[in-house]
Amino acid sequence: MKCNLGGEFSNGELQRFGNIEVSPSAGVLNYGQGLFEGMKAYRKQDGKNILLFRPEENATRMRCGAERMCMPAPTIDQFVEAVKATVLANKRWVPPPGKGSLYIRPLLMGTGAVLGLAPAPEYTFLVYVSPVGNYFKEGVSPINLIVESEFHRATPGGTGGVKTIGNYAAVLKAQSVAKAKGYSDVLYLDCIYKRYLEEVSSCNIFIVKDNVISTPEIRGTILPGITRKSIVDVARSQGLKVEERNVTVDELLEADEVFCTGTAVVVSPVGSITYKGKRVSYGEGSFGPVSEKLYTVLTSLQMGLTEDNMKWTVNLS
Ligand code: PMP
Repeated sequence: MKCNLGGEFSNGELQRFGNIEVSPSAGVLNYGQGLFEGMKAYRKQDGKNILLFRPEENATRMRCGAERMCMPAPTIDQFVEAVKATVLANKRWVPPPGKGSLYIRPLLMGTGAVLGLAPAPEYTFLVYVSPVGNYFKEGVSPINLIVESEFHRATPGGTGGVKTIGNYAAVLKAQSVAKAKGYSDVLYLDCIYKRYLEEVSSCNIFIVKDNVISTPEIRGTILPGITRKSIVDVARSQGLKVEERNVTVDELLEADEVFCTGTAVVVSPVGSITYKGKRVSYGEGSFGPVSEKLYTVLTSLQMGLTEDNMKWTVNLS
């Protein structure tokens, strides 16, 4: 789908996956004017029906991001319809139940030509898909994180709270250095006090201490994860206490359990954290009891194994 700055997207069409042509002076290539979303479709046990998870939340997040990035955005209906149409056209690529999911990547970008720094004059919204397995090579085994002390992902007043492409450019270096040293990913601290947890390169972070779950509150430097929000609701519906507040690195090191949440990582247990050369381990090579419970409740819902009392899933057949 295409539209002009200040305009509305007209309805799009399905196209075979392939290269797209853009001007070398496209806004997205020169000034990073791009936003994306990450979603997953799961095949239900019956082998036929396919479930989307809270697609209108992704549509809303893209619309908030578009406002920050001076871009027009598709309406919630246009976004959801485009996702549904793309998934249905690629139904055969949705893996069988329990064998992975179809990853969905909606992308909004300034494709109009612009030389001086300014919002692009024309925009493209597209959706593409790919079957995926687990995000971390560890699968659902615990991952090992290093607390980053040199690089930051986001600064106050910046774009860390929206899913713009430049945020991911900022983490490439930190993440590749950490991976080369054998860590699964990087955990960022706030860039002022260097004391409060922010998030991991592509997921949110939670700690559990004495059965109380805590996660950094959403501020402009943290992406408001849809899995994070869903886990907070699931935990509360299970009678667990959840606090959204500033969480310090000292609390992280003292936690009983640590886990990450995101569309790609789902709920991933953290097995160890390395901070200033010191390594702290959690659990015994598997999920802690709280994160395991939350993982089971959430994934059963996403895969259609339990009744969706939350009304979060959208059925496609
Ligand atoms: N933080 C960052 C930086 C991310 O890229 C993601 C993945 N979208 C998340 C958190 C988790 O968000 P969600 O649960 O909506 O996938």
